[in-house]
Amino acid sequence: MPHLLNVWPSVSRKLLAADRVLLVCDYDGTLTPIVARPETAILTEKTRCLLSILANMDRFVVGVISGRSLPDLESMVAVPGLVYAGNDGLEISGLGVDFVHCGASDFSDSLSEIARKLQQELSDVPEIVIDNKRLILTVHFRNTPDHYSAQVDEMLIATVKPYVESGQMKITRGTNVAEIMPNISWGKGRAIEQIRRGCGDNPIPIFFGDDQMDEDGFVAVQNVGGVAVYIGGTRQNTTALHQLESPTEVEQALTLLTQL
Ligand SMILES: [Mg+2]
Repeated sequence: MPHLLNVWPSVSRKLLAADRVLLVCDYDGTLTPIVARPETAILTEKTRCLLSILANMDRFVVGVISGRSLPDLESMVAVPGLVYAGNDGLEISGLGVDFVHCGASDFSDSLSEIARKLQQELSDVPEIVIDNKRLILTVHFRNTPDHYSAQVDEMLIATVKPYVESGQMKITRGTNVAEIMPNISWGKGRAIEQIRRGCGDNPIPIFFGDDQMDEDGFVAVQNVGGVAVYIGGTRQNTTALHQLESPTEVEQALTLLTQL
């Protein structure tokens, strides 16, 4: 898996060959380092400034996509002129797009029910955060001592099992996080396709992401000749063909993009 900065000349040629570029970035672990509490994952001023410069360039359409809710994501990034996709793209807003996946809200009662059950079942697990964002339920256990992880996994699977078996819900497990979401055919990949369709001129997509939830985004952009960049150590199993080590290197890549 080549390091993006090592093969930048060929990647930049590819991007320059297109009239426009759709740049999409995940937030946590991609634009900001993973931190103990989600509310402290603050964007650096430099990254915010680079996103703003790119959003103002004719060559770019810039989007941010995250498992966070749309209002949370918008307030964390706070750069005007971007497309924001919250809840893994079940809701998208910006640049004339105002989209909520039509099937997703039908599941909000079940998600509330699951959230209530998990609060009870996991009440003795320290530092667990159950975040019901209406369209997706996220369980964070970054700060939970490692020896609880088997118990957390067991409880999660047992609690969600009836909903999974009835075909209502699915679980995606990331690093110290699990997402429970409606079992509909949707994900970051479909959301990126939706944003790209909205552009009207088929820009070449480049997508930066760090987690399991980003994998179908990688596939979606590579399927249309775009560039997928995995953020993290080299040994992780990923479909992305390019890699960067850290959000600091993402910042370097964004700087290079402003020079296109
Ligand atoms: Mg991430």
